[in-house]
Formats: sequence, C-alpha cells, structure tokens
Amino acid sequence: MRIIVVGGGVIGLLTALECSLAGAEVSVVDRGEIPNPEATSYDRHRVLRALHPGAPEAAAAIEAHHRWAEVESRLGADVYHRVGALTVLGPGEPEASAAVLAEVPGAVRLDERQIVERFPHLRPPRGSRAVLERNGGVLLADRILTGTAGLLAGRPGVRLLPGRRVTGVEAPFGLVRLADGTALRGDAVVLAAGLWSRELLGADRTDDLTLYRQTQLMCTVPPDLRGVWERTPTIPSLGTPEGSWLVPPVAGTPLKLSAAVACRPVEEVTDRTAPDEQRARLVRLFAALLHGFRAEWIERAEDSYYLADSTTHGPVLGQLGEENAWIYAACGGSSFKFAPLIARSLARRALGTGPGVPTGLAAVDRPVRMPDRLRAPDHLISGVAP
Ligand SMILES: Cc1cc2nc3c(=O)[nH]c(=O)nc-3n(C[C@H](O)[C@H](O)[C@H](O)COP(=O)(O)OP(=O)(O)OC[C@H]3O[C@@H](n4cnc5c(N)ncnc54)[C@H](O)[C@@H]3O)c2cc1C
Repeated sequence: MRIIVVGGGVIGLLTALECSLAGAEVSVVDRGEIPNPEATSYDRHRVLRALHPGAPEAAAAIEAHHRWAEVESRLGADVYHRVGALTVLGPGEPEASAAVLAEVPGAVRLDERQIVERFPHLRPPRGSRAVLERNGGVLLADRILTGTAGLLAGRPGVRLLPGRRVTGVEAPFGLVRLADGTALRGDAVVLAAGLWSRELLGADRTDDLTLYRQTQLMCTVPPDLRGVWERTPTIPSLGTPEGSWLVPPVAGTPLKLSAAVACRPVEEVTDRTAPDEQRARLVRLFAALLHGFRAEWIERAEDSYYLADSTTHGPVLGQLGEENAWIYAACGGSSFKFAPLIARSLARRALGTGPGVPTGLAAVDRPVRMPDRLRAPDHLISGVAP
C-alpha cells in the first residue's frame, strides 16, 4: 500500500508511523517544515488527564495513557512526564461522582485544606475541592513531533516532503495536487491539515467549524520555587469561573498559564502576539491563585489557534470517496492527548484493514461524509509552493 499523509502535526506524524509500522509505503507532505513550528501541535507541552467532568472521555484517556507509554518507548526519549493531574472543583461545581471517580485509576478526592497542605504554592478558591489523578501529566509536544519525524525519516519506504502545499485531493484516484503543479498518487490519503483544513474544504463547508485563538503566558519560576513547581501535577482546572488552568514546568519547559476566558473565536489566523489586555487579565487572575506570582515571571505571552466543531467544540473526521481518503478536518481543543488512538484508527481506515479501531471519541468513530474532491480556492492555488 502507498499512503499519502498530508500534515506533519501530531495526528499526521503518528498516523504515518502507524502506517509504516504496518508495512505501507508512506509519504508525509507538509506546507512547512516537518514538523512545522506553525502547527497547532507545535508547543512545549500538552496535557493528558482522564477526568473530564461532564464528558464521557475517561476511558479514551486511560487508553491514551498506555498508548503514549508505547510512543515514548518507541522514541527512546522521556516525552511523557507522569506528574498526575489535579482538577480543582470550584464552590459552585458539582462533586465528582463516585461512578466518575471509579473510572479513573488511583484518583483521590481532596478538600480545600488537603489541597493547600499538599500544594502550599496554590491558593484555590474558598470552598473548593479537587480530584487528584495519579496517572496523566505533561506530554512534551515539540519533542514528540521532532522525535517522530526523526523516526519516520529513518524508516524504509517513508518519504518526508516538507515545503509542499497541497491544493486539492481527488479521492477516487488517490490523487493529491500540489501548489507547484505536480501531483502525488497513493492507494489512500489521510489529510490532517489542522487550521488550514478550511482552505481545502472551502467556505461553504466550514460553516460548522469555529477558529479559536488562545493567549498563554510562558513563565520562569524563581529558582527557590523550582523544585516544588516541577513536582506539581498538571492542573486542567483551578476551580475559578474564568476556567483558569496551568501546566507545570517539567523537564526545563516553562510554567504555562492560561484560562478559558483567554480563548476567543476569531475569523482568521493572523499574528501570534498576545494582546495587552489578555496578558493583563491572566496576570490578575494568577496573582490571586499562585503564591508569589508576579508579572516578572513571564518569559513571553503568545497566542495560538485551533479549529473545532462549533457545537461539540471537538474534532471532525470526514470521509471522502469510497473509504480511501479521510480528512481530520478540525482538531478541537484536545486532540493531542488522544492522538495515538486517533492515529491508529485513521491508519486502519487508510490501510483498509477495518472501519478504524474504536477510540471512544464519537467524532472519530463516526466520520461524516464529505465530497470526494476537494480543491483550495484559486487565489490560494496560484503561485508556487512556499
Ligand atoms: C493553547 C492550546 C492548548 C491546547 N492544549 C491541549 C491539551 O492540553 N491537550 C490536548 O490534547 N490538546 C490540546 N490542544 C489541541 C491540540 O494541540 C490539537 O488538537 C492538535 O495539536 C492538532 O493536531 P493536528 O495534527 O490535527 O494539526 P496541526 O498540528 O495543526 O498540524 C497540521 C499540519 O498540516 C500542515 N498543512 C496544513 N495544510 C496543508 C496543506 N494544504 N498542504 C500541506 N500541509 C498542510 C500544517 O503545516 C501542519 O503542520 C491545545 C491547543 C491549543 C491552541
């Protein structure tokens, strides 16, 4: 089998690896470098946790925990720091039910006093409680991408093709058209084009997708606090109405601070400069939540983007043609942690070895039907590949 994978983000690279391990010839095509620093996946870290209050994703996350351990051993590098995850539930938020807790291995409840005793550098809201997960933690995103690209480059039958922009796909012929006027042909095609999927899908098919822009603060923790911060679990919720969250500074990475209120829908991908008001709002928020936090900790404030289904806020998988072309048309805000599951499922579809391994993620297990020919608008097609 010859498989063409468009996109060198986490979904494309892990899908390519799965296909190659299954014996296929694989070409990975990207408009930028492989990996591309502009991809949504390309960041210092991403979070893996099992507890998703109100969402049935625990089983998928527990499976993802095991799959990431496999990826880590294949890469031969420490890319998954199992510092655990602490979900703080604010005073108004419902208690995690016994049924939910039972699903998450080794999870324990903490009351406000216990949170502060174990994590004296945190100032959780009055009356909050928390769930501490033993598993889960921080995925070192950029190292995962670089390591996987390196692994692929050394595998027989794999071609990495950076700097080639795809302008169209004709599923019936397994044809992938490039901006330089050439084309690639495979037995199956997987498009994992992240933000740029909208160009290929065209305006009328992207009404259901929303582009989000999120501000994050990357911070350096003072040397006397570094030890305690490196042992801190990842905190997907600090229990505030603003939806504040943080990622600890493991393995030389910065402490990352952000909040749901720093995420807003936008029309276009433009610059990545964090607006002053977003930065100031996050500083005020975290000054109340972390002992000793000051604006001087900030190394840089930056914005990044992701594309999600407007209703579910999750990913979208589309089938083009008769089971030989697939588009991961939007990633949602949590596809990194599930990437090994999604990649295995996509690889199986592309290889024709089944309907895709069930991931427990509805959008991936039940793809939507899309047109079997995609073509970027002419203004994007003219000119040569970047
Ligand atoms: C601030 C922020 C925090 C997040 N936190 C988490 C988290 O904690 N946990 C989690 O699981 N997820 C998180 N996410 C979401 C996660 O990062 C994404 O879901 C995931 O990285 C998407 O990967 P992807 O491979 O689908 O897309 P991308 O990483 O965007 O890759 C797409 C690739 O396709 C290439 N491409 C696009 N168009 C073309 C074309 N026409 N021709 C050739 N190449 C093309 C691009 O150059 C790019 O390399 C977060 C996202 C953001 C923005």
